[in-house]
Amino acid sequence: MNNSEWIERGEQVLIHTYRRFPAAMVRGEGCRLWDENGKEYLDFLSGIAVCVLGHCQPEVTRAIRNQAGELVHVSNLFYTRPQIELAELLVRNSFADRVFFANSGAEANEAAIKLARIYSAPGKYEIISLLGSFHGRTLAAVAATGQPHFHRGFEPMPEGFINAEFGDLQALEALISPQTCAILCEPIQGESGVRPLSQDYLQGIRALCDRHGLLLIFDEVQTGLGRTGTLFAHEQLGVTPDIMTLAKALGSGLPLSAMLTTEKIAAAFTPGTHAATFGGNPVSCAAGVVVLRQLLAPGFLEAVRDTGAYFMAELQGLAEKFPQFASGARGRGLLLGLTLTEKGIAHGAEIVNRMFERGLIINFTGNQVLRFVPPLIVTRNDIDTLIRELEAVFAELA
Ligand SMILES: *Cc1c(COP(=O)(O)O)cnc(C)c1O
Repeated sequence: MNNSEWIERGEQVLIHTYRRFPAAMVRGEGCRLWDENGKEYLDFLSGIAVCVLGHCQPEVTRAIRNQAGELVHVSNLFYTRPQIELAELLVRNSFADRVFFANSGAEANEAAIKLARIYSAPGKYEIISLLGSFHGRTLAAVAATGQPHFHRGFEPMPEGFINAEFGDLQALEALISPQTCAILCEPIQGESGVRPLSQDYLQGIRALCDRHGLLLIFDEVQTGLGRTGTLFAHEQLGVTPDIMTLAKALGSGLPLSAMLTTEKIAAAFTPGTHAATFGGNPVSCAAGVVVLRQLLAPGFLEAVRDTGAYFMAELQGLAEKFPQFASGARGRGLLLGLTLTEKGIAHGAEIVNRMFERGLIINFTGNQVLRFVPPLIVTRNDIDTLIRELEAVFAELA
């Protein structure tokens, strides 16, 4: 069986919720993937910011294998070693005192939304999020997502979610009412085009929360866990949230997410108020323990910052070379975007497709930016390859 046969079979049975690349992937190692035809790809998407240590990192694989041979699942009516070890690592290395585990980013955000509401009840339930945000696809998470096209056809949206204009503190304050319980935002908006929130803006949001007695929830599903060069993106901004959600990188590809908060806020959840059957699954958590230990190993995050700075400079150089297509680069660490001009945007999908044909996986997000979220172990050599190929594609299109 080759790619096209699998694609044909997939097309018969899968619901068309994704516009997929024409490849059936079979194997991954480090920053590389191979498809059914044996074609090799350099992966600058890493399962959308998931495989931070690269594909099939040997220690992760060993931890998964070992745990799968010991205990795969048991109800959260019991304690398990991997879940506790991972929670300890998260608590020891963050502002938080307590952790709730779930399986996906949306689910972690649902937990955060529910916690903010129950903590603030009665009467305070409204959550303000930002236009351009992305918080997931379940109904509450998508209601919080400030991109109306994700709501279309699914109305009515659950009540209690409003959006503020991106970057405008006064507009945000004007939306605060006696019903407001929390402000929810990503330190860098990932899906809508790698849009960083400035330090001033985030500190202003923190101050608003303090002044009005609101909880600050950071969705670090994409920015967290080393992606921006520190364990959590907010560490670089001098702003601490009350609740933080993590997912993508946490299980190194196994479904796993977490909601972290302080002792005081966590106390609003009591037995029976919230749950997830698979949340904190031992195999996923065993992988998560390896992820956290690697991220915290001496020099690891420093290397992410170095590689990110190199990559950023290369992208800026590319933008200078092809001003008709690219206007600049933005992001932090290894969450980077090449911002496109109008002409670049018109070719956005085409650029991604041509790169794919050349064996490089990138993505075009928010309909405005080429996004790069490689494994955090990506080398300068890999980056040079990517830049060279992007240059070739731009030259073809020029
Ligand atoms: C990907 C993402 C989510 C949704 O995560 P899922 O695991 O797909 O539910 C939520 N928030 C942010 C910031 C994300 O990038």
